[in-house]
Amino acid sequence: MQQYIDSYDFSGKKAIVRVDFNVPLDDDFNITDDTRIRAAIPTLKKVLASGGSLILMSHLGRPKGVDAKFSLKHIQQHIAECLGAPVQFADDCQKADAQAAALKPGEVLLLENLRFYAEEEGKPRGLAADASDEEKAAAKKAVKESQKEFVKKLASYADCYINDAFGTAHRAHASTALIAAYFPNDKMFGYLMEKETAAVDNILKNARRPFTAIIGGSKVSSKLGVIKNLLDKVDNLIICGGMSYTFVKAQGGRIGDSIHEDELIPDALEVLRTAEAKGVNISLSAETVAGKEFSDTTERRTVDIFNIPDGWHGMDCGEASLARWKEIILASKTILWNGPAGVFEFPSFAHGTEQIATYIAEATQNGAYSLVGGGDSVAAVTRMGFSDKVSYVSTGGGALLEAIEGKELPGVAAIRN
Ligand code: AMP
Repeated sequence: MQQYIDSYDFSGKKAIVRVDFNVPLDDDFNITDDTRIRAAIPTLKKVLASGGSLILMSHLGRPKGVDAKFSLKHIQQHIAECLGAPVQFADDCQKADAQAAALKPGEVLLLENLRFYAEEEGKPRGLAADASDEEKAAAKKAVKESQKEFVKKLASYADCYINDAFGTAHRAHASTALIAAYFPNDKMFGYLMEKETAAVDNILKNARRPFTAIIGGSKVSSKLGVIKNLLDKVDNLIICGGMSYTFVKAQGGRIGDSIHEDELIPDALEVLRTAEAKGVNISLSAETVAGKEFSDTTERRTVDIFNIPDGWHGMDCGEASLARWKEIILASKTILWNGPAGVFEFPSFAHGTEQIATYIAEATQNGAYSLVGGGDSVAAVTRMGFSDKVSYVSTGGGALLEAIEGKELPGVAAIRN
């Protein structure tokens, strides 16, 4: 039975909470962006204010075993500051029995990086490059076996389980999915997970029309599943950014040295055919701002996207396309944006991406629902100070994409089912 954080009685209970504190750190272990920590704070404060105690668990980076570089100790103090409460630390997530047992209401214990153990992901480590299929299968079986004990130990620390780690909800890991089975009547989403899943439902299940998706970024291959699922949902699909050039080449255009994926040409053609059959209006850039070199300071020229000179790189969309997209976006009632419209890291080629953010903000002010997700579009919106001008900014990259593909995320299913 799924519980809800607002109706659950936390008094005197220990809550083990899966958070996504996988934050970027600089060379001196300073946090360079604490969005993920701040995003989980409302859930954590709620448990403490309701008389519960907290056992926090997360991964950080991709350690291959115990590695001080990836210790959660680096972020312990910052969590305490964000939470406004002291945070104790357990040096080993599998040996925290005594510390967990001693927790009193209002106290917080942070467990060391879950991924110091291969059991968290359930994938064998340290296999020889030339390992045979039998050896691989045996190693996999062994880690799956020991994973049961790993999960059981984590579960033994607490009375209830909260998943607030949307960023890792697409992984069927010990702490994101398997542990829920130990709390059949005491498992729930944190506020962040609730908001993220509601945002996905808003676009996939409850979209008001016209519904426009703007899909950009570098590659068709990483977004093909998303595009295919959206063709059943949207009225307009704006395809922009680096992935445009595969669509242009597929239709016989000259793309110069622009980024593209030849092997995705049949898929691109299939997307165009399906869109036509389903009556989805696909809008590609008509012209492109091309650079002579792939750099910020290079010579620029606006050219027909179907006729990019040899050696030139398409790096941003042009004004005529933006004018068309502005009309489409402002007429929309539901908007999804994932992926930049150009190489927005270079200020000279960030104009298209920034304009799209502006149109979405304007449409939102006029009453549209807008969801922005995926690292780079979120970075663009944040950089422009527009985070509050769109309806929702997702914290999930891969997780959001898989949800939009229509897949049930293991972290979500483990709580709901
Ligand atoms: P993705 O992670 O697939 O959303 O792609 C984001 C990346 O796509 C950003 O780093 C952009 O610089 C890159 N990108 C967008 N447009 C282009 C383009 N025309 N050529 C090369 N890279 C691009």
